[in-house]
Amino acid sequence: MEEAYNELRWNPLLEAWIIVSSRRRGRPWRSGQCPFCPGAPETGYGWDVLTLDNRFPALRADARTSRESKDLYEVRAGYGYCKVVVETPQHEGDLSDIPFENLVKYVRELSQVTRELCSDPEIQYVMPFRNKGEVIGVSLTHPHSQVYALPFIPPRVQRELKSMERYWRERKSCLLCRILELEEEEGVRLLYANDGFTAFLPFFAMWPYEVHIYANRHVGSLTELSELEVVSLADVLKVATAMYNSLFDFSLPYMLIFHQKPCKLNTEYYHLHLEFYPLHRERDKLKYAAGIEWGAWTFTYDSLPEEKAAELREALKKGLVELRSKGYEARGKPL
Ligand code: ZN
Ligand code: ZN
Ligand code: FE
Repeated sequence: MEEAYNELRWNPLLEAWIIVSSRRRGRPWRSGQCPFCPGAPETGYGWDVLTLDNRFPALRADARTSRESKDLYEVRAGYGYCKVVVETPQHEGDLSDIPFENLVKYVRELSQVTRELCSDPEIQYVMPFRNKGEVIGVSLTHPHSQVYALPFIPPRVQRELKSMERYWRERKSCLLCRILELEEEEGVRLLYANDGFTAFLPFFAMWPYEVHIYANRHVGSLTELSELEVVSLADVLKVATAMYNSLFDFSLPYMLIFHQKPCKLNTEYYHLHLEFYPLHRERDKLKYAAGIEWGAWTFTYDSLPEEKAAELREALKKGLVELRSKGYEARGKPL
């Protein structure tokens, strides 16, 4: 067998770890039998939601490094876990197509996987995410999410932690709870709310159809959700994806990221939220993170967020009709 290396290399300019793994080239690419369908070698039968090890993990518990550190060039073992959560036995579709009880099990599974991976003494952060669509580079169409368990807190979350910690220290309250209040006051970018969660296109969106979903209650991670909140999260996921898929006449590609508090730190100021980043800026145009976005980390937004929110509100109405026609009655209401 070919040698596998999984290591972290430190970028001293950006002060960020790069995950380097040498055997990722062999990934399956839209060919052959679906490895996630019931009856495949790794799946078997009799499940609604199934967590598997990624067969080509970027991080692994028995990681080996290809070299030693030298001066600024720090190398650490790429220790961690890469899991795949197969969301449904159905081979096609989005979260909006998954039967509701199945979707509730999916949310519970993400919570359970978070708890398990966080209990590893070396793991600092667990991030569930979902990539959908060929333009995002998804190699397998069977509905699935991924969970990365990292031995460090990733930079974007560190930045959020810093902002939330400062706000908490200075104002004795939560930054995200305040953003939620402001969105409710202004109203124009709100999309949908149920008992547990609120969806809106944020004032500070970076992607044209970016949507954030905040827990209504000040809660830090999936593992702290009540049973009602688990059901509410499944509902808002179903509705938000139905909204996206009603926006144009095709199923909208997106990235979905779960931002929860780190595993080991006592971060009472952190507030659980989800972020959707679709790649489209119009029906037939993609928004690329290109020169200014990558080279400067400065995003340009080529319309008003309020206009895009208005489009999403229309799509949301259609999405709710679509869900109702398939027998699903949303638990919350459009805003
Ligand atoms: Zn399949
Ligand atoms: Zn809060
Ligand atoms: Fe976030």
